[in-house]
Amino acid sequence: MSPRQLELLTIVPASKVCKRCGEDRPPDDYFPGSGRYGRVGRCRPCNAAVAKEQRLQDLDKARARDRAYRARNLEKARAAARANYWKNRRVQN
Ligand SMILES: [Zn+2]
Repeated sequence: MSPRQLELLTIVPASKVCKRCGEDRPPDDYFPGSGRYGRVGRCRPCNAAVAKEQRLQDLDKARARDRAYRARNLEKARAAARANYWKNRRVQN
């Protein structure tokens, strides 16, 4: 490994520019990955936006994936649904 590569791995920068929105953000706003400084190139909000776009591009497939996940993790899915119910419930009147 070259000294330059070692430097990139050990120096923790104050911020990093997102390759999608171009915003300067702290490293914690990026998921760990294979990009520079051991972080992915897109910030977390951009990752979420891309995931949303991709989901909408093939909604049927995404819903099939959700169903498959629920079938595989029934207890976990039920616990999450229950937690959501209590978190979002509106008391009548
Ligand atoms: Zn971004």
